Amino acid sequence: MQFGGHPSNAWIGDTNGRRYDYTYNGKEFNKDFGLDWSDYGARWYDATIGRWGAVDPLAEDYASWSPYNYVMGNPISLVDPDGRAPDNIVVPDKKDQKRILTMINEKASSSFEFNEQNELQLCESSCNSEFGSDYYTERLIEGINAKETITIEIGQTFSANGKTKDVDKDAGGGVTISKTQGLKSEAVDQLVIISGNENVNLKDTKGNPLTDTAADILLHELVGHAIPHVVGSDTGNAVENENKARAQMTQYQSGVKIPSPLRAAEKRHKE
Ligand SMILES: [Zn+2]
Repeated sequence: MQFGGHPSNAWIGDTNGRRYDYTYNGKEFNKDFGLDWSDYGARWYDATIGRWGAVDPLAEDYASWSPYNYVMGNPISLVDPDGRAPDNIVVPDKKDQKRILTMINEKASSSFEFNEQNELQLCESSCNSEFGSDYYTERLIEGINAKETITIEIGQTFSANGKTKDVDKDAGGGVTISKTQGLKSEAVDQLVIISGNENVNLKDTKGNPLTDTAADILLHELVGHAIPHVVGSDTGNAVENENKARAQMTQYQSGVKIPSPLRAAEKRHKE
């Protein structure tokens, strides 16, 4: 099994590096981290019903996400009523959208917004951004234009191997789950879950503590894992991808603009 660009191990959106002590051959990986979708999916979709069914006026638009089809053992494909391919980067929860938009626009060189279908798109007017990474912007646009769907949620738990895992403690603040790792929803190709908290365990290339905010973690999950899976590999290494964006960020120190530090290399942290 090859790992470079292979989606089989890429759902591990771990940003604290601890998990990379594991050997990522398929056997150990499956044993330790194999996802139990039925467990995970039930919880996820239950939450989805509660949110969309009760409060989201667009809930009808998501009829094809109905949990009942899945529960009845008959998952159906997402059929887009106007015939477009199901695509895009989607944040189904409106409350999550505001926070995620802030995170993305803080790091990308162009501003984004959500349309009424809860899909991320480039901001259409009076929303220029002067700072941030062109690489992040370009990869987001590629992700948006991909045929497959990336769904982002803010949440504290995910399921692996039938056990509930904590996004912060077990995955460094963010995780990306691929279909090849048990994500069985027909409507979602990549599921990114971030806790919304920062990760305090990262080091930069000089061994100093590295700032890793929720916005950084989301960037990592997207350019490091989710987007490479739907549009193709970039460097093959999730941290290298992340650093391409970090290298385009600047920060001010005593009023002087200096480059942002880069995250220490993790050779086994594949896309
Ligand atoms: Zn990662």
